[in-house]
Amino acid sequence: MVELFIGGEWTAAADGGVREIRCPADGTLVATVDEAGPKDASAAVAAARDAFDRGPWPGTPAAERGALLLRVSALLERDKDALARAESLDTGKRLVESVYDMEDIARCFRYFGSLVATGGHGRVVDTGDPGVDSRVVHEPVGVCALITPWNYPLLQTAWKVAPALGAGNTFVLKPSELTPHTAVMLMRLLAEAGLPAGAANLVLGAGATAGAPLTEDPRVDMVSFTGGLVTGRRIMAAAAPTVKKVALELGGKNPNIVFADAAFDAAVDYALTAVFLHAGQVCSAGARLLVQEELHDAFVTELVRQAGAIPLGGPFDDDARAGPLISAAHREKVEAYVAAGLAEGAVLRCGGERPDDPALRDGFYYLPTVLDECTPGMSVVTDESFGPVLTVERFRDEDEAVALANDTVYGLAGAVWTSDAARGHRVASRVRAGTVWINDFHPYVPQAEWGGMKQSGFGRELGPTGLAEYQEAKHIWRNLSPSPQRWFA
Ligand code: NAD
Repeated sequence: MVELFIGGEWTAAADGGVREIRCPADGTLVATVDEAGPKDASAAVAAARDAFDRGPWPGTPAAERGALLLRVSALLERDKDALARAESLDTGKRLVESVYDMEDIARCFRYFGSLVATGGHGRVVDTGDPGVDSRVVHEPVGVCALITPWNYPLLQTAWKVAPALGAGNTFVLKPSELTPHTAVMLMRLLAEAGLPAGAANLVLGAGATAGAPLTEDPRVDMVSFTGGLVTGRRIMAAAAPTVKKVALELGGKNPNIVFADAAFDAAVDYALTAVFLHAGQVCSAGARLLVQEELHDAFVTELVRQAGAIPLGGPFDDDARAGPLISAAHREKVEAYVAAGLAEGAVLRCGGERPDDPALRDGFYYLPTVLDECTPGMSVVTDESFGPVLTVERFRDEDEAVALANDTVYGLAGAVWTSDAARGHRVASRVRAGTVWINDFHPYVPQAEWGGMKQSGFGRELGPTGLAEYQEAKHIWRNLSPSPQRWFA
């Protein structure tokens, strides 16, 4: 049985709740895990609070905190095959993609480890008064609730855990109830690296019963959440009465803009990975293709030819290039978006159904789907379907491309393809999104900030700002020779 991790102890759920984890690729039982409820969430917060208020971690020198993150990075490298396997069983993701993720995760810990160990830890303020010593220092925020989704389970967790610990916070982690295993493994690695008991706590379970109590608890100082827009709104409201610091990494409906002068083969190739990687279950997926009028027919024809040939299969099928969706319910949601798009006038160019391969019958597969002749306002264009569904819209010129790209409540990411460097930069600066790629799609590095504008959220992960999210700036003013002011005398 997989248990909760509270105050440095592996602990069964207080009410005896359990949940079965099944692989989305074929429905096989992966494990049975403890299911936390409000009592467990409260116990985990108590442990994190105690570790913050009385434990050694917040007062541990930054160089030692950084060194611990570097040790965790090395342990992640050591265990990357086992971690990748666990991630693939939980998510159905191809093993090779999970291995890439584990390498990125080790890099993330390495980056924050170096940043914390070597970074500046405050500054002296020039007040102009030699009788005053004025300094600004950076302190941890306190107890952090870290709530993460199922699509990149350990990656999203690492983006929070590494900076939170690096800054000296303690935390309670609540991973998605669908994909708990790599979070469990990370807790073991943190303990092995020497993290004091209580600094890292883990509750497993549903959002409403294990997650929501963390967002309401007055002993929690900050909530960092990655997940859907609707949940993000709920979490912001739940955190309001106790005025917690909140960071939200929400969804996206990301435009991929292709001008007629783009490098054709590369643009087609990247348009495929932009949207069909991990079956479209990527927050930054390029799910809206905006293609210039004169290129439209040739581009879409070639894209559809290649999309129709993408082999589907489970995590350990070496011939597969895309896996299943996370659950039956999620596949039904994707199907409903495609049906709505067709009813609203979109033209189905490929996919639009489940594969008929009997070998895939027990998984939640859906064929890569291209919907052409889409228009603004269709629900399949405006909403995040979070599946392998590409909508295609045409534009005539740069202004129309930018207007279409920004015609969304989201602002997470986007890309522009053109061989005109000046136009690439012009369009990148006009697209309202936290990340814009020029002649590329998807790359990110831990040194550069990641996050959304508009309803894709606020706050940034990664980069120096990703560390600053978990810090409070404090001004300490010292009067070196106090004498009476006689204001009231
Ligand atoms: P989700 O919002 O359903 O769940 C995310 C997490 O929140 C889960 O752990 C869930 O149990 C928990 N949760 C649900 N209700 C809660 C509540 N009331 N209080 C506290 N916790 C609660 O999202 P999901 O389906 O797991 O993930 C997919 C979404 O995540 C997509 O919208 C995707 O775009 C987004 N995402 C964003 C980024 C980013 O960097 N911006 C990265 C990955 C995923």
